Amino acid sequence: MTTKEITTLSKNLWRIARNSTPKGLWKILYNFCWRNYRNMADFERRQAKGEPFFPAFVMISVTEKCNLCCSGCWVSANGRKQLSVEQLNGIIEQSKAQGSYFFGILGGEPLMYKGLWDVLERHSDCYFQLFTNATLITDDIAERMRRLGNITPLISIEGLKEESDARRGKDNVYERTLAGLRACRKAKLIFGVSASIGRSNYDELVSRKHIEDMAREGAAYLWYYIYRPVGKNPITENALSKEQIRSFRVFLNEQRVDAPLFIIDTYWDDKGRAMCPAATGMSHHISPAGAVEFCPPLQMAKEFINADASNLTDIFHNSEFLASLRKMTAETSRGCILLENPQKMLQFLQEWNAIDSTSRGTVAEEYAAMRVVAGHDMQGEEIEEKSSIYRMLKKRYFFGFGAYG
Ligand code: SF4
Repeated sequence: MTTKEITTLSKNLWRIARNSTPKGLWKILYNFCWRNYRNMADFERRQAKGEPFFPAFVMISVTEKCNLCCSGCWVSANGRKQLSVEQLNGIIEQSKAQGSYFFGILGGEPLMYKGLWDVLERHSDCYFQLFTNATLITDDIAERMRRLGNITPLISIEGLKEESDARRGKDNVYERTLAGLRACRKAKLIFGVSASIGRSNYDELVSRKHIEDMAREGAAYLWYYIYRPVGKNPITENALSKEQIRSFRVFLNEQRVDAPLFIIDTYWDDKGRAMCPAATGMSHHISPAGAVEFCPPLQMAKEFINADASNLTDIFHNSEFLASLRKMTAETSRGCILLENPQKMLQFLQEWNAIDSTSRGTVAEEYAAMRVVAGHDMQGEEIEEKSSIYRMLKKRYFFGFGAYG
């Protein structure tokens, strides 16, 4: 580990400690770090020994409802599907029984889900990452999250002022998001910022300036995604080219050495080999309709949870559909099948008579119309993780778990 890396790590950790509450720090250390350490070890053992399957992490989309209307979003924002509180509780209980205490809570906009706070409060032994556009976060809501201590808001910023408004379908989205973000900072929450990178926001957001601006705003981490042209109105032209994905990877790698916040991606392992988190079994997704899905944008499923989700463990243990989908995707590519081979994916889904889980009911037609675009698999041109800290973390927590042979 170089001196520069040690200094950067110390500064970033100190900044988080200084800007959070003792309860928030305790929850992230115990509920997130320690429990995840144990959970990953259990998951690894289950995979290695061929024990019944249960993903390390469950992502839960609680509602389809959203107050924005982003282009290229896969959620039916005007839909009315949502999980019942009993189902949400049940998913968490079932997961805890398998040693999994960390959940991604998505929507729609999860803050539009009634009953959210009661559930998150009830499971004070868990840690929740709330995927939000932050426009509904007031001082009161931030204060409520501070009191609970077990939530990290992950605030999506899809571009600066003009790009945000254009991409998110409403006016003043950037300002409203920043207001929510500042409420989080005022309440001393540990929060992150995410960005889904396409051609239209590449220059603005894949930049040192954006990283420094977000660190100045108090973000503890920045989570970068690659834009996926899926959903009702995909913008295929906005997908990154192969060269841009390569530059993006180089950028992440360079920045991690001395960025003033933590930089996250879930696309590449320590050697720079591509990975699909769902193909490795690390995470799967429950939709607002209760569908047990491969991952959030893959909105067709065979199995659904019951009224209190008491069948979830059984579904994960025995789903031939999910097991075959994991196998097929891992055999197809280490990258993203949605981008690289949507037709093969659709054929698989149709052969299995998978059901559209959305309110709009047009997912099969949308997949049929998808064009192949570049994915994150850079076979033969892998770029090894430069920062020894990230290299070590990825080696420990982000590898293939046997999925790629
Ligand atoms: S299929 Fe694509 S979007 Fe889904 S988990 Fe894999 S890489 Fe991510």
